[in-house]
Amino acid sequence: MSKQTRALVTGAGGFIGNHLVTFLKKQGYWVRGVDVKRPEYSNTLADEFLVADLRKWENADAAAQDIDHVYALAADMGGMGFISTHHAQILHNNSLINLNTLEAAHQNGAQKLLYTSSACVYPEYLQEDADVKPLKEEDVYPAQPQDAYGWEKLVTERLCKHYFEDYGLETRTVRFHNIFGPLGTWDGGREKAPAAMCRKIAYAKLTGNHEIEIWGDGEQTRSFCYVDDCVVGIDKLMRSDYREPLNLGQDRLVTINQLADIVANIAGIEITKKYIPGPQGVRGRNSDNTRLREVLHWEPQISLEEGLRRTYEWIEEQARYKLGMNGNGNGTGQSLEARTTFANSMRE
Ligand code: NAD
Repeated sequence: MSKQTRALVTGAGGFIGNHLVTFLKKQGYWVRGVDVKRPEYSNTLADEFLVADLRKWENADAAAQDIDHVYALAADMGGMGFISTHHAQILHNNSLINLNTLEAAHQNGAQKLLYTSSACVYPEYLQEDADVKPLKEEDVYPAQPQDAYGWEKLVTERLCKHYFEDYGLETRTVRFHNIFGPLGTWDGGREKAPAAMCRKIAYAKLTGNHEIEIWGDGEQTRSFCYVDDCVVGIDKLMRSDYREPLNLGQDRLVTINQLADIVANIAGIEITKKYIPGPQGVRGRNSDNTRLREVLHWEPQISLEEGLRRTYEWIEEQARYKLGMNGNGNGTGQSLEARTTFANSMRE
């Protein structure tokens, strides 16, 4: 970089946004983060951090001042438990966030904007079997996303396309498939399956009650991608000249039962699975990475086992602290500075 590129990361207080800020700082960018909250589990490395609500135009406008590249990650979101029960809130809030973010990037003269879409845009009718055919980018139409969350993502994908066609804003669109890792929401109702599984198994290990609740029969399938691969993929797509939506995920399909077994193995305990009713989302979902490989000459590198090991280690420490069992001196549950030191060691 000749001149230091100025990046805006929206949702910088969230899981992927916080990791992306760290990654961009290491690459030499000047970074402004914006979010309604600061990161919960570590300090941010952003040069500037605005605590602001992007549903308000004046906040989006202020955030986009003097910015070259926008990474649009802010969203009102969570795991299946949240997404399947808050349709109006999600569609309302995320529409406002994204309408404002794109317009602010355009009006303030940003060169590029990367939008974080989701595998939730894919039609329900292609995801009815656990042994699902991997989803290619063009499978998205005829559209029938399962939830309001997916519909909003699809509309914002269209908005990105039109902002390029009508205004010349260089947009990039990535469709994440289940990103997981340390420093993400792991309890409280918005956590996603890998974090929830790590939490349940950590509590099982720490309390001695080895019964784990699983929503449905546990035979629903997904692929899971570790967050370090996710930020590398974001960076590669942003640097590319590819303007169409692109999958970003692993293409190894596992059942939720297998996910539980891998985490239990990492924790070193035997578990008993108890199947209870609960939202499961589509029956099966996997990423077809053919285009990802063609466009980026790369695909995610970190194995599910290795990613889960790093994630489990972090969540076990959170659970230990919550249960009042902290004391091994790795900083978790201590001051934010101590937690940041621990978090940064996890991010090396
Ligand atoms: P996250 O919930 O940890 O981060 C999103 C952040 O947006 C949060 O910190 C939240 O406070 C912030 N936010 C919400 N409303 C806001 C508002 N009105 N103004 C400003 N900030 C606001 O989620 P994440 O997992 O880091 O996801 C980042 C992006 O990637 C989201 O757009 C999400 O939809 C997308 N995505 C994530 C996954 C995944 O598996 N994690 C999968 C598909 C898509």
